[in-house]
Amino acid sequence: MRWDHLAENPATPRDAALFDADTVTTRTFDSPDFRGITFHEVRARSIVNRVPGASRMPFEWTVNPYRGCTHACVYCFARKTHSYLDLDTGLGFDSQIVVKVNAPELLRTHLGSRRWRGEHIAMGTNVDCYQRAEGRYRLMPGIISALRDHANPFSILTKGTLILRDLDLLKQASEVTDVGISVSVGFVDQELWRTVEPGTPAPERRLDVVRTLSDHGIGCGVLMAPVIPFLGDHPVQLRATVRAIAAAGATSVTPLVLHLRPGAREWFMAWLQQRHPWLVRRYERLYAEGAYAPKWYQRRITRQVHELAREYGIGPTPPGMPRRIRRPEPAASAPAVTGPAPTEPAVTGPTQLSLL
Ligand code: SF4
Repeated sequence: MRWDHLAENPATPRDAALFDADTVTTRTFDSPDFRGITFHEVRARSIVNRVPGASRMPFEWTVNPYRGCTHACVYCFARKTHSYLDLDTGLGFDSQIVVKVNAPELLRTHLGSRRWRGEHIAMGTNVDCYQRAEGRYRLMPGIISALRDHANPFSILTKGTLILRDLDLLKQASEVTDVGISVSVGFVDQELWRTVEPGTPAPERRLDVVRTLSDHGIGCGVLMAPVIPFLGDHPVQLRATVRAIAAAGATSVTPLVLHLRPGAREWFMAWLQQRHPWLVRRYERLYAEGAYAPKWYQRRITRQVHELAREYGIGPTPPGMPRRIRRPEPAASAPAVTGPAPTEPAVTGPTQLSLL
């Protein structure tokens, strides 16, 4: 890696301000969790980033304490951002993790600045802030504490069960400001999970996070992303996923079809060629126009998920009311929906940048 190259010749204007090249400390840890992973500890120059083209996004400011992600989702479109650091966007993205070790103190200073107007801050929009590295570096408690102390609204999108470690802090923050939590679960198919999201907690464990947060009075939505064409989009798979999301007590479900931008596209297609070679031609046709599946396909998936969400009554559970849907049974048949008639489901449009 050529940090000096980056400092002298930044790939983007934002990279120029990322950190001082001469403050990078590189470490490896000999525990099973971190074998094969290299951490690059940096002291960032700034931590609150403005989203380019924020007018199209529901948020303008983000905080990302890490770059690279050991969750290693094959489709992750944040892969491209590793190339800005002159790092490999394939295995390098999964195993070369940049850690902004001063993120909590930088954020606290930023929030206390007279120029800051207390706007919403989104986290988990580039890479997962509750990836495994967070278990060692523990940056999020300091970040959430700073946001709580300044009553600054924020949201977190994650696939990491580690977020439950910070449950008390999240509760404290939610008492003084708006806190939005979303968990990403695109499918509950075990085989697909093991191969395409190999470093993530299992989908059921992620849904346990939704359940636990909900039990503690913190509403949690699910970003049903990505819905993977021909591998995770069968009506039976969609039904099983929405049913499990409903059973976990999610307050909303937001479907998002896989997109394949440069950086992610090459890595995903190589994986497809290796695992499902008979699908390569179909993918080339489906994504012939670029990074996105055709509108008709996206609309079809959205409609199916909307209908299922309505059927299963996804939405907040009123205080004192039992959830209407039990945990999904292993049986293939559709479960009965018990209790009051389903209300209008909370189904939202895409709200996050990443396919987290
Ligand atoms: S999709 Fe999210 S969880 Fe998966 S590798 Fe990318 S940043 Fe990490």
